[in-house]
Amino acid sequence: MQKHTTFNAITLITPTASMTAEVFGGRAKCLQRLIRLDMPVPTTVALSFDTVRGIAQGRMPDIDAVLEPFGPTPLVSVRPSSLDPDWGGPGAVLNIGMNDARCAALADEIGLASAISLYLRFIQSFAINVARLDPEPFELPDDADEASLAAMLAAYEAETNEPFPQDPARQLGEVLRFMARAWDGTTARILREAKGAPADAGLGLVVQEMALGVGAPESGAGVIQFASEVTGAPEVKGRYLSQSQGRDALAQEGAIYLTRDPRGPSLEELCPEIYADLIRIGALARERLREEMQVEFTIESGVLHVLDAVRLPRSSRAAVRIAVALGEQGVIPREEAVLRIAPNTLNDLLHRQVAPDAAREVMASGIAASPGAASGQLVFSASEAQAAAARGEQSILVRRETTPEDIRGMHAASGVVTARGGITSHAAVIGRGLGLPCVVGVSNLTIDTRKRTIRAGSRVLGAGEIVTVDGHTGDVLIGQPGTIEPALDDAFRTLLSWADDLRDIGVRANADTPDDAQTARDFSAEGIGLCRTEHMFFDGERLTVMREMIFAQRDDDRAAALDRLLPMQRADFTRLFEIMEGLPVCIRLFDPPLHEFLPSDRAGLRDLAEALDQPLSDVMERAERMSEYNPMLGMRGVRLGITVPEIYDMQARAIFEAAIGLSEKTGGEFVPDIMLPLVSAQREVEIVRARIDSVAAAVQTETGREVTYRLGVMVETPRAALRAGDIAENTAFLSFGTNDMTQMTYGLSRDDAGRFMSEYVKQGVYREDPFHTLDLEGVGELLTIAAERGRTARNDLVLAICGEHGADQATIAFCRSHGFDYVSCSPFRVPGARLSAARLAV
Ligand code: PEP
Ligand code: MG
Repeated sequence: MQKHTTFNAITLITPTASMTAEVFGGRAKCLQRLIRLDMPVPTTVALSFDTVRGIAQGRMPDIDAVLEPFGPTPLVSVRPSSLDPDWGGPGAVLNIGMNDARCAALADEIGLASAISLYLRFIQSFAINVARLDPEPFELPDDADEASLAAMLAAYEAETNEPFPQDPARQLGEVLRFMARAWDGTTARILREAKGAPADAGLGLVVQEMALGVGAPESGAGVIQFASEVTGAPEVKGRYLSQSQGRDALAQEGAIYLTRDPRGPSLEELCPEIYADLIRIGALARERLREEMQVEFTIESGVLHVLDAVRLPRSSRAAVRIAVALGEQGVIPREEAVLRIAPNTLNDLLHRQVAPDAAREVMASGIAASPGAASGQLVFSASEAQAAAARGEQSILVRRETTPEDIRGMHAASGVVTARGGITSHAAVIGRGLGLPCVVGVSNLTIDTRKRTIRAGSRVLGAGEIVTVDGHTGDVLIGQPGTIEPALDDAFRTLLSWADDLRDIGVRANADTPDDAQTARDFSAEGIGLCRTEHMFFDGERLTVMREMIFAQRDDDRAAALDRLLPMQRADFTRLFEIMEGLPVCIRLFDPPLHEFLPSDRAGLRDLAEALDQPLSDVMERAERMSEYNPMLGMRGVRLGITVPEIYDMQARAIFEAAIGLSEKTGGEFVPDIMLPLVSAQREVEIVRARIDSVAAAVQTETGREVTYRLGVMVETPRAALRAGDIAENTAFLSFGTNDMTQMTYGLSRDDAGRFMSEYVKQGVYREDPFHTLDLEGVGELLTIAAERGRTARNDLVLAICGEHGADQATIAFCRSHGFDYVSCSPFRVPGARLSAARLAV
């Protein structure tokens, strides 16, 4: 036989046995801890991962050795023990060892009906799970008597052509084999891998002497916990059922409350001493196991046994509250409380969610681009969404892709679905900014805007029908499943304040509007790291002035349009500065693909012709000339600043005038950050800098107040990364726009990649969607080069990231290791980024 190092790791769990969760699993280790705490745990034997692996491959350990601690007539249970209890495993099998002889002997002790009932339960579980028989003939009868036992034994024999096995060793061997193989099943594997288990995760098994739970005087079983699994608030909860075993109390009728309860009888009244013992055991387990536990117990003839304790399964909200409570009470250090909460857990607290137990009718699925859940009637245009909002009704806006014209609709809608686009597409970026649930790239969804229907396969829904966007999973659901509300409670704030004490990298928010800025403040962002100013021009009146400016043929027409835009922008910046109360605000000058501002349909072009008082044919011809095949690489960013410099002049003036206004109001000095997008050459920076300086000088002369600002460059083209050394000489900071940098490094269109991305990831071409998870190997190398060259040229250079990746823990780890000063991300991702940064610093 092949020699296995730990093949024979079959250990009686004692206070001194040598065991680790990595070899025997979490349940076995936990039972040992309970035994060390002198809790009344029945005799227990643990089988290691390797032993169980051996069993699955046909190498059965010495079963007599396993049974030896249980005496000549063993009666045992087997439970799974994986490293992390959340990974699941086969259900417990109880009463192994029941046979004709044991049943007869037990009848004298606990009565015939109780003994037969245990035997029947075992036959049932063995027949269905181990022998894989049809469950029907093995349903438990109402009366556990000799006739029903004979019938079930006969049914077993009829189905298998052999009598029910009587030898406890054979019974146990078969149960162990069944459990070992169940762990290897495909479904079990997929389920646990979805919960983060590695492909080679092992299963340990725990064999434990049965505490019967049936018989007289009081016998039964129950489960007790000391905090709510929903809110995490301290609360004694659970059920107890007389004459029962395992977790029957949670599933069957007749169970009673644990604590005195006006709704019915309780264990506290039935067995006050045992109840008091359970409370004491719970407090001890919590303190010494340093975790909120759920305890499974059995009362056998008036004596309490603790069979098992598992980490209390909990909602995200409860997880935060429990970690904070343990930290505040000194049971665990605060650092550990921070480490116990995975950053994306916070998403569930920040956004409404589809209730985990709600029925889901999935119509189609795409990329989960902005978390949260929202239901509403299907609408197909921004104006329909606005009309629904005006009626006080919720709507879900469905578009092939969104454009700036849809922004108003996105503000009015409760959720957004697009058939095209990836994680950094327009809809996704705006959705995250607004905290609006959004699913993009639903490629199997056909949108017919004329008929106003959506279709996926054979399902067709029309305008007005109710759908739900699940921005956590990327599903579009038919109807309105139940939801759970967000919960930004004290525990959430406490946890994040601990995180702030620990972290060593700044966290700012990408915020374009006063609402965004307020959200950023509410989530304690340390400033605005990116204000995309083009997003300030999407609302009705401004869009028209903007179009007039774009279409102006003569300088004075353009100047007139800019004069109208200036006070609007000044007011925008003033609001942002006020809300941020002196925290840094980084304003990126205009970066639209210009043609996005053009009307996309004939009606829009006609409106524009009217506003401009020009013939429709002229407007159409000019729009045609301005349209671009690939606008993401066309007349964008600083290119606009070079070719139509008046726009940046206007923005710089608005920024300076707003900053001076704020300084006058508060008496302090306020220095705005101004950032240039899509730079690819040092000369671009020089030219724009000279113009901004001259605007600054003009404002200084006009107001008699000193104007200061910091100029920065958004590094988002590969060339800017490579030339970061000379670019840095003219700038105070570099902020990496990893959305565009990813697009350009891969040569992937950020708006179109959604079409094939899932296939690429499925086939392993890309490990992950690089718009979602920063590509450290490729894009990361460019960032590394840029950071080094930039800092070499200028050692006080501030380095930051403001692409969508900025909130991601792996990206933050990269930024920390390269000495970045801060990350900036959508406001709703700020809490997660604060937590991630802290976890990395611990
Ligand atoms: C980027 O490119 O990473 C970025 C933040 O800018 P935008 O998404 O506006 O192009
Ligand atoms: Mg960009």
